[in-house]
Amino acid sequence: MFKFLQEVSDYIQNSFLAGKYIGQGLSVTFDHMSRRPITVQYPYEKLIPSERFRGRIHFEFDKCISCEVCVRVCPINLPVVDWEFDQINKKKKLNHYSIDFGVCIFCGNCVEYCPTNCISFTEEYDICTYDRHELNYDNVAMGRLPYKVTNDPMVTPLRELVYLPKGVFNPHGVPDDAHRSGRLPSEILENDSDNTNT
Ligand code: SF4
Ligand code: SF4
Repeated sequence: MFKFLQEVSDYIQNSFLAGKYIGQGLSVTFDHMSRRPITVQYPYEKLIPSERFRGRIHFEFDKCISCEVCVRVCPINLPVVDWEFDQINKKKKLNHYSIDFGVCIFCGNCVEYCPTNCISFTEEYDICTYDRHELNYDNVAMGRLPYKVTNDPMVTPLRELVYLPKGVFNPHGVPDDAHRSGRLPSEILENDSDNTNT
């Protein structure tokens, strides 16, 4: 008899605990229902990188003079400048140029010191692959025009913390009609054209 009562007591206790834990889980769910989202729905939405963002390097083949300054200033001598001496024109002729982005640390030395500005940073950051050898970009891959978040019709570009009003960091209790801190590119353009006209 005592054993039976003990089992009933344990059952009631466990049921109470189960209800308590379910309630705790639901309270977190309801808590989040009153927040504004601050997550970015990648890849449908993407943050606009900052102006000095160091993404995939863009290379302009015709402007390169094969001086190899980029190799000398690179902390790991990474750029491969394959050139030969053109006997007729008496100057270096570039054959191939490549940088392995699986090894590059995006320090910017090569971009900074290139005398002809033929290498520049882009805002491309999603250059991941399944095979790390595919990250070794040659001059053709590096010469591809850079991708821009603001030019992609399939993507909604966002600024950081775009969903929250200016100065607000807690997403609780923000009214739906409160003005967002970040502006979409269309709003920026609209505002800039208004200022130009006045
Ligand atoms: S960004 Fe830095 S690490 Fe990468 S190739 Fe240029 S100098 Fe080398
Ligand atoms: S520093 Fe510039 S011009 Fe010189 S080899 Fe490198 S990319 Fe070409």
